Amino acid sequence: MSVPISSSRPPRVVALTPSGRGAIASLLVEDDGELLDRPGLFTAVNGKPVHQQAIGRVCLGRWGGPPGEDVILCRTEPGSLELHCHGGAVPLRRMIDDLVAAGASESGWSEHLQDRQGILVAELAEAMAAATTWTAAAILLEQSSGVLHEELERLLEIPWDDRDRAVEGLTSLRRWSQLGVHLSRPWSVVLTGRPNVGKSSLLNVLLGFGRAIVLDEAGTTRDLVTASTALQGWTVQFCDTAGIRSDAEGVEEAGISQARHQLAEADCRLVVLDRSTSPHPEDLELLEAWPDPLVIANKSDLDDAWGAELPGSALSVSALTGHGVEELVERIVHRLVPEVPPPGTAVPVSAKLTEMLRRAGTAIEENDETRFREILRGCL
Ligand code: GDP
Repeated sequence: MSVPISSSRPPRVVALTPSGRGAIASLLVEDDGELLDRPGLFTAVNGKPVHQQAIGRVCLGRWGGPPGEDVILCRTEPGSLELHCHGGAVPLRRMIDDLVAAGASESGWSEHLQDRQGILVAELAEAMAAATTWTAAAILLEQSSGVLHEELERLLEIPWDDRDRAVEGLTSLRRWSQLGVHLSRPWSVVLTGRPNVGKSSLLNVLLGFGRAIVLDEAGTTRDLVTASTALQGWTVQFCDTAGIRSDAEGVEEAGISQARHQLAEADCRLVVLDRSTSPHPEDLELLEAWPDPLVIANKSDLDDAWGAELPGSALSVSALTGHGVEELVERIVHRLVPEVPPPGTAVPVSAKLTEMLRRAGTAIEENDETRFREILRGCL
């Protein structure tokens, strides 16, 4: 007997593998044969209909009419099965389209996980899939092992009379929000400075310094060059604003406003100066324009033309010889991650969880116990 499809909503079909070329593509289908046993979809080599296939056993078959596509099916539990086909977007798309035409609804992986196992599990899984360094993965694994779940449950158990402790707990959690979000998304470090001060040379050295270049997108626009690397285990996306100039017009102006936006949004700003040529009014403007930048005095291998005018906090480096670059990396990392969470610390791992914690804090301020508990339970 096949399990009837729930009348409340259509069965879901969920792509479990990302789109693009790969050896195997996998699809989850909420089905026991109601869908797949319809003519023209799946034909098992052993001749049995889907609902008679053993749970937990793989079954070879073909998808669609002759010649069809080789497919492996596995019923994972009652009402749910997986299909595995050749990697690549086309075979997967074809199966999804066939299933949708037969009455299924297509759903995202994260949305499906969230519905079945809650927001926390879905956000952790999504962050883990996007993490690109061991450092990030280790923190995420620790959160997945129960650290974050237990902390949220602990907050839920605090009696309302004692809600000051809940406020403290939320504050401790939210302290790691920035770090948590950046476990799956690179920190943004933007270089700015006049033309020819050595920004792109410095960018190249910094990228070479990173242990692993995880992504490279050169020349995305006329004015911005971005590239990512890992510095001491943290993923960093550098952006070189190749010249913010006040006299620009037209197309260039559009690029410049993009550069300003990048600078405004950056997690860390590097103002690069050429120490070998005397200060220019635009250098001084840049030093004043952005709050608390890391100031880099490049070309330290040449004679110093700044003398006492060089800001005391400036770090002398040479993109040519590499002098000072190690210290520069230290300073960047210290800016981005001034403190690493000690083992066992709960870290909210996504913007969504951080926002929920913020709303839970507001509920306490408004003395709304019901909403506070609803929001926290909603995370689990
Ligand atoms: P940008 O316009 O700010 O990106 O500057 P570039 O990286 O293109 O560098 C401009 C010029 O300065 C090039 O000729 C570089 O080779 C040179 N340059 C960059 N960094 C250094 C450095 O540390 N020392 C010396 N002597 N020359 C450098």
